[in-house]
Amino acid sequence: MKHRFISKKYWKEVGTPFGSTNEKAARFTDCINLSIGDPDLITNKRIIDGAYEDALKGHTRYTNMYGDPELRAEIRKFYKEEYDLDIAEDEVIVTASGLLAMYSIMQVILDQDDEVIIQAPFFTPYTSQVKMAGGIPVELDTLEEEDFQINVDRLESLINERTKAVIINSPSNPSGSCLSVDTMKKLAQVAEKYDLIIIADDIYTSYSFEKEFVPFMSMPGMKERTITINSFSKNFIMTGWRVGNIIAPSYIIKVLKDMSENIIYSAPAPSQRAAIYALRYRKEVQPPVIEEYKKRMNYAAERINSIPWMSVMTPPRGSFYLFINIKKSGLSSAQASEMILDKAHVLLLPGNAFGRCGEGYLRLACTVGIEKLKEAFDRIEKITVDK
Ligand code: PLP
Repeated sequence: MKHRFISKKYWKEVGTPFGSTNEKAARFTDCINLSIGDPDLITNKRIIDGAYEDALKGHTRYTNMYGDPELRAEIRKFYKEEYDLDIAEDEVIVTASGLLAMYSIMQVILDQDDEVIIQAPFFTPYTSQVKMAGGIPVELDTLEEEDFQINVDRLESLINERTKAVIINSPSNPSGSCLSVDTMKKLAQVAEKYDLIIIADDIYTSYSFEKEFVPFMSMPGMKERTITINSFSKNFIMTGWRVGNIIAPSYIIKVLKDMSENIIYSAPAPSQRAAIYALRYRKEVQPPVIEEYKKRMNYAAERINSIPWMSVMTPPRGSFYLFINIKKSGLSSAQASEMILDKAHVLLLPGNAFGRCGEGYLRLACTVGIEKLKEAFDRIEKITVDK
């Protein structure tokens, strides 16, 4: 909105398509909302109990600005146990969410007009976050016919002297793709050749259904040029706790700490305690959740592929999103999403909300149980599309 009391930089809206989903869903009382990636499950009781008991014991105050020392130790232990990676104490900082982590990183690394290449289709806020830090987002299209892998020739064609970083997200929101080790090796060579930083938004790592997740920073020589974002939101069903962390070279972590000191001081103490229990009990709390999402993804994928004007890659590779190809319908993403909402009362997000290569797709978040998914597809398959 244009108003003297609002900074001119916000006169043009910076909201995302996610901002209007509640309004859209409210159009129909029986709407099945498959738009937002907020899991319907709740945080495991052991995690909640642990945080509650620790809050009663006094973990209700600011923590160290780098994060609760016990949580930082637990994160480092996690990396050693899971990936045999040694993370030094000064290479990790706790943040109040993955979103704030990415925003802070952009503020720390970008000078005016620096370019950031973004693996597309992408999590919508990335472009605004780059712009808010004075940078220029550049979309790197990935294509279904290439398994949504990063095409290194396409990447190289976008690099110039202003390019500073590449954002990758694997498993990806929204495409569900998981970068292969071969792709990551090639990406590492490009990063080395052009002296780039890779920002790995490692948010859905537990939901890597086909192959074990491999962190980009484990590629040879890449620890020095990777900034890794972790969040407890999706991997541990903790979206409301707002807690995540960043792993990066110590000189970057130091600046992130200095900046955070002026913004938030520390992430919420009880949420950090919850994160400790999430990591400690992960072998117990994660498998049933992963199994549930995998079941839903397989079910939804089968239903999608039985509808003549829809298709999706099978088996689902990762994340808890399905990126549905609707090109056969002849409709645009926006038209298809509106039509499905109007006729079936099911809310899916248009794929172009995730970058230009998302045109011709819809994103479905598997954040309801199979029964609800069944109802949604029973309604969608009744729609006839006139070409
Ligand atoms: N990155 C990606 C790729 C996401 O999909 C999301 C949330 O949907 C986030 C970051 C934000 O996560 P957080 O809840 O930690 O802010």
